[in-house]
Amino acid sequence: MFLRELTMPPDHIKGAGPAAVRTLAHAGVTSVGALLCRYPRDWEDRSVAVPLADFGRSSVVCTVVRVLAHDWFGFGGMKTLKVYVEDSSARAVLVCFNRPFLEKQLAVGRQFRLWGRFFYKYGEIQSTVFEVEPLEGGVPEAESAAKSSRVFGRIFPVYPLSAGLTQGLLRKLIKTALSQYAPPLEDELPEEITRRDGLFPKAQAIRAIHFPASPGELDLARKTLIYEELFYLEVMVGKRAMERRSPRSGTVRPSKYRERHVQDSGAPLQRRLLERLPFDLTPGQEDAVAEINRDMDGPFPMARLLQGDVGSGKTLVSFLAALKAVGAGGQAALMAPTELLARQHAENAAALLEPLGVRIAFLTGNIKAAGRTPLLKSLASGDVDMAVGTHALFSRDVVYWSLRLVVVDEQHRFGVTQRQAIMAKGHASLASPGTPDLLMMSATPIPRTLALTVFGDLDVSVIRDLPPGRKPVKTHLARESNEGKVYEFVGRELAAGRQAYFVYPLIEAADNRDLKDAESMAERLATTVFPRHKTALVHSRLDEEEKRKTMEAFRRGEVQVLVATSVVEVGVDVPNASCMVIEHAERFGLSALHQLRGRVGRGGEQSYCFLVYSDEGPEGGGLTEDGKTRLKVMLENSDGFVIAEEDLKLRGPGQITGIEQSGYLALGIADLVRDAGELARARTDAFAMLEADPELLAPEHRRVAEVLERAPPFSPVVM
Ligand code: ADP
Ligand code: MG
Repeated sequence: MFLRELTMPPDHIKGAGPAAVRTLAHAGVTSVGALLCRYPRDWEDRSVAVPLADFGRSSVVCTVVRVLAHDWFGFGGMKTLKVYVEDSSARAVLVCFNRPFLEKQLAVGRQFRLWGRFFYKYGEIQSTVFEVEPLEGGVPEAESAAKSSRVFGRIFPVYPLSAGLTQGLLRKLIKTALSQYAPPLEDELPEEITRRDGLFPKAQAIRAIHFPASPGELDLARKTLIYEELFYLEVMVGKRAMERRSPRSGTVRPSKYRERHVQDSGAPLQRRLLERLPFDLTPGQEDAVAEINRDMDGPFPMARLLQGDVGSGKTLVSFLAALKAVGAGGQAALMAPTELLARQHAENAAALLEPLGVRIAFLTGNIKAAGRTPLLKSLASGDVDMAVGTHALFSRDVVYWSLRLVVVDEQHRFGVTQRQAIMAKGHASLASPGTPDLLMMSATPIPRTLALTVFGDLDVSVIRDLPPGRKPVKTHLARESNEGKVYEFVGRELAAGRQAYFVYPLIEAADNRDLKDAESMAERLATTVFPRHKTALVHSRLDEEEKRKTMEAFRRGEVQVLVATSVVEVGVDVPNASCMVIEHAERFGLSALHQLRGRVGRGGEQSYCFLVYSDEGPEGGGLTEDGKTRLKVMLENSDGFVIAEEDLKLRGPGQITGIEQSGYLALGIADLVRDAGELARARTDAFAMLEADPELLAPEHRRVAEVLERAPPFSPVVM
């Protein structure tokens, strides 16, 4: 039996009363297996003696003391007992807040075992958090003391607590559960690996993670469980990668495009677009296109993630992929997260691809029946070659003639279910059902560690270069009280014909907070700060038509100052804009800041980004330590990959945009950042095992993978 097959409720544990079972259920622990997987968050080593004098090294003391004297401070009912103690090394004070009863127990002259956290205060070594145990008849032999003691001689688990749970309850229940259920547990890791790395068998690992007999045992238990977790994570990733490698199905019937342009095939179409461009592809774009072409010519459907920093020219790469699909007789669909961005892509596609005879359709949720019906008809008949839009591209009533390529822009904005719906459209194509090629694009660089997991079954192309002639954006930090200077600077840029973005964390004024908001600031910037320039406002609550008009006016330069919330974060491309002012910058996440800054520096002019932060301390809603670190990262780095790694360090993988949407990465004990090296090894092991076995997995391992897959905390959602 595997650990996660211990699905019986906790009332099977001896001594677990109904109250305890209810408390556990409240904390989400409804099975014995889940209880045993509630790993300690820390361990207290009370197995080695630490004399009082050594408290500075570990802050924890574990010793035998004699009580010297009592003292009280405070008044009346608030009086607090102080107990003076000493061991052979030093004197110290136990401050007994709310524990006046200790006066009797800690009688002067008696000896006690003492465990506690100590600190230095008022010239004394003090503790307020301590546990004591009377010592009968002098100091016993160390060995027997360890055995008999409740407080000493062992390493104690410290569990993460939630409503109603106490350390005492968890320690007791887990201890009993271990003795009832641990011994027959089966190993989950392949024996070769356990042997090679000298890891523990599962039963021993799970016992030792909770109640290690020594620090060495604890280390090995952690190592075992971490490796096991990462190994099966990668088994699942690898399994999906291999399952998807089923050969292309369906034969392509010649599309309307092919009928119209008999002479074409994929490559010439791409060449014709390149010839029309006023610039050359960057080396990074060229490599990406080559990789995509190879995939699309290959025997298996493509599943590729195209990573490239903001402004690296991913859109063009996706257009070239679309040309390949269209040239080969299929249809392409390009999905963007916002209508604003979808529209921009559609316009670009129209400008670049329609001259080549490619028919483009624009489809969003806002297009109503009158326009929609003929549009859907032409998608189903193959009269449209490329559809550009929002997730409406994949709503229920949309049918494709021959969907061969799906491009998902800013993929982190989409949930996993949406991506699945997309793929299903390919299988439902009228003329050539089959898995379409998939190209996901992201400007939120995915740190390497995550690339090996969440997106671990995708091939990855990375564009590392920006188009030539771009000047790095100059970034400045400014206090809110100095905003006048920032406005002055921006004013000079505007006077020189440039444009500027101003971004705020809120759409409208919030009564309870002293934060600037987009609406009020649009008013203020328009009337008092830049009265001679035209200012406009966009945010997510405006209707699409209004947003479109505003963006269009900004793009054409009719509006010089665009006031916005983070809706301008993705995609928008206005090369003449040279200033990005982000107010209350401390309130934005790193990746949002990076995306926002990426909106400028897209033309030949020097561009600037001002990160304006609140003067007040954290209490006033101003700069926290975290906020400070983020701003500093922005100041010192421009490479999106470096920023993403910093983001991961600051926030942990669970918080990274897009990952939380996928409901992924509730790992039990492994930490993708800390254990990155182990992860890479586990991946090699897992993939080797999968490749060695024609059935993908030996039956016993397949069973583990299945059990893990069904049971959180182990649920990677991978495309
Ligand atoms: P992103 O990767 O952020 O989506 P875009 O696709 O929006 O970047 O491209 C940014 C800008 O760079 C666009 O205006 C695009 O026309 C331009 N561009 C793309 N490729 C090149 C290139 N090879 N040389 C010069 N400009 C390019
Ligand atoms: Mg883009």
